[in-house]
Amino acid sequence: MLNFDDLGLSTEILMAIKVKGYSTPTPIQVQAIPHLLQGHDLLGIAQTGTGKTAAFALPLIDRLMKNRVKARPARVRALILTPTRELASQILASITTYAKNSKLSSAVMFGGVSERPQIMAMSRGVDILVATPGRLIDLMEQGHVRFEQLEVFILDEADRMLDMGFITDVKRVIRQLPAKRQTLLFSATMPQDIASLANTMLYRPVRVEVTPQSTTVEKVEQKVAMVEKGNRLMLLRNIVRQNSNGSVLVFTRTKHGADRVVKHLEREKVVAMAIHGNKSQNARERALQSFRSGKIQVLVATDIAARGIDVPGVGYVINYDLPEDPESYVHRIGRTARAGLGGVAISFCDNSELHLLRAVERLIKRKVPVDSMLGHR
Ligand code: AMP
Repeated sequence: MLNFDDLGLSTEILMAIKVKGYSTPTPIQVQAIPHLLQGHDLLGIAQTGTGKTAAFALPLIDRLMKNRVKARPARVRALILTPTRELASQILASITTYAKNSKLSSAVMFGGVSERPQIMAMSRGVDILVATPGRLIDLMEQGHVRFEQLEVFILDEADRMLDMGFITDVKRVIRQLPAKRQTLLFSATMPQDIASLANTMLYRPVRVEVTPQSTTVEKVEQKVAMVEKGNRLMLLRNIVRQNSNGSVLVFTRTKHGADRVVKHLEREKVVAMAIHGNKSQNARERALQSFRSGKIQVLVATDIAARGIDVPGVGYVINYDLPEDPESYVHRIGRTARAGLGGVAISFCDNSELHLLRAVERLIKRKVPVDSMLGHR
């Protein structure tokens, strides 16, 4: 097995990794870092949880540190585009940790909050900018962000960008970038549109593919509860009550559904909050923080809002509805059983959703047993 020391990273970065407590690099880190340090483009097929952030961030920091150029006002030397605010904040947090022994500056840019601090940060120029597409385009068009000094462009979660309707925005940003640059594209899946985008934006990329964290999936005890939609609130309440000491993360397909579940739980005197796209950034951060600290027992989330959220110690994940996209199932249940802990994932299902359950079972290559004790038909 390779060590971090064997990958060719600078001492400053190795020190930061050590403090962070990583002992060995993950497969995507082993495969990607040496090529990235040599300046190659990269096509990474990987999802959250594989260590992909460090796989791109460590060599990025290394490169920017060695190439001692100062970002001029409004310029960025590296741009990381990511679909959601939560992911953008998390990537920035990782970068701050890994770059703490360097003098590199970094900033984050997303909508739903005031533009002012983001414009202020740009006025001095930044080495690494993490952004979601909408706000970036706004500030780019106002002249606050310029790319003449751009050295590296990273497109994260490209397939989500497509799902969320951001692909035109992404292309608009790419047209502004200098042709000579290092480009990385990460995506959990490779639909045709993303493959063609990769073809147009990458130059002779190294291709790295890591399989979804099947180990995570294996550590989670998974069950199905056959329950009609009308009985789901009651069943959820019972599960939450029986598990009164543990955190419960509930996924719903729609924002409206998430709000409805929260209202119902509150009527039952269970403290719960929702996070989804209609909530302000502050409200989402507050809900996440309360959930992490154990102030609230139940967090109800939609898939997009929950993407990338890292909450240690979630005991239960409840799929209040099964997701349309089976890969979301893997993301959802991956929120539990982190850091080697076990966890339980219960999926509510009725006859009209059996096809969704079969799609999940095909993807994870195993059957999810029905727990008849949980049924409230
Ligand atoms: P990511 O796929 O980038 O979202 O990373 C998932 C989680 O793995 C994050 O909480 C990272 O802090 C953690 N992580 C990344 N690289 C390593 C490593 N080499 N060893 C242990 N944990 C890691």
